[in-house]
Formats: sequence, C-alpha cells, structure tokens
Amino acid sequence: MFEWYGEKYWGAAHGLAGIMHVLMEMELKPDELEDVKGTLKYMIENRFPSGNYPISEEDRKRDVLVHWCHGAPGVGLTLVKAAEVFGDKEFLEAAVDAAEVVWNRGLLKRVGICHGISGNAYMFLSLYRLTGNVEFLYRAKAFAGFLLDRAHKLISNGEMHGGDNPYSLFEGMGGMAYLFLDLIDPTEARFPAYEL
Ligand SMILES: [Zn+2]
Repeated sequence: MFEWYGEKYWGAAHGLAGIMHVLMEMELKPDELEDVKGTLKYMIENRFPSGNYPISEEDRKRDVLVHWCHGAPGVGLTLVKAAEVFGDKEFLEAAVDAAEVVWNRGLLKRVGICHGISGNAYMFLSLYRLTGNVEFLYRAKAFAGFLLDRAHKLISNGEMHGGDNPYSLFEGMGGMAYLFLDLIDPTEARFPAYEL
C-alpha cells in the first residue's frame, strides 16, 4: 500500500488502480492473484453511486474528479486489464460502467492524458480493443474530434487550460498529439506508459 500526503490514494497515477495494474503485468502466485482480484472488487463495491471512484481511502465524499490520475478513467483502464487477465464478467461490466461516467462527465477543460480529454478518450479505446464494440470507438472519436476542432481555439481564448506544462505528454498537447496518432490504428491504441 502506498501513501501520498498521508492518504491512501485509489487512482491510476498515485494509488491502488496503478499498483494493481502493474501487479497484473507480473507473474503472480495464485494467492497473490486473489489479493489483486479482491482489492479490485473492494474498489468496485465502494465506488460512488454515480459509478465514479473516490480519490482516496480517506476522501470518500467528493465525487468530483473524472481523470486518469484520479477517478473512473484510470480505474477503468485497470478494470479492462483485469477483464483480460481474469476473464471475469464483473470486471468487464465495471469497466463499461466507468466508461459511461467518462462519456457523461469526461469532456474536461484540459487536453493532456493525465487529467485531460485525451487521457479520457483512452477509456473508450481500451474497451474497443477488448470488446470490438464500435460504440466505444465512436465515443473515442467524438472526444478526439472535439479536440481537433476546438482545442487550439479554446486554449487561445482562455476557455480551456493549455496545461501547466503546455507541450508535455501527460499535461499538454503532447498527449493530444499522441491520441491523434493512435487513432490512425485504434485497434493498437494504448495509454502511453500504462497499458503495456
Ligand atoms: Zn493528473
């Protein structure tokens, strides 16, 4: 268990979802696999009624962030991985629920992959890769199309945030460029440095 600022975080960047994701890349013993499974089921059972996920074990009230770093998009990618590894329907259903949260609330005011629209589009690309359901591809393209059409204008108007590091992969336009490149062949799209 990893703590950050004295809290046990849940998200992909700083917490449980990220740790479980890495563990599922390893060769694990049966009891260790059960621990991973049990942790993920605990998270699903304790998500918000909205389907989004808490920021941390200590912060179970604020249902505000729908980011890869904190919330449904990052946890959802880990659930897709769990559906692949365990072949368990419960994980696939929870990933689809997470994608629904991202579709309804994930058009953020930033462009990058950590806490921006580009990263959230990977929730749909990941489910498209797993299921082949074109509805998810449509949703990824809708997010990417929004960025392609409007991001530059909205950033220059000050209506969207260009990122604390405007050209970086995780916070800025580097992430948007990476998403556009991935959409050339969406079946091969993977969230950079996370979906290996
Ligand atoms: Zn972030």
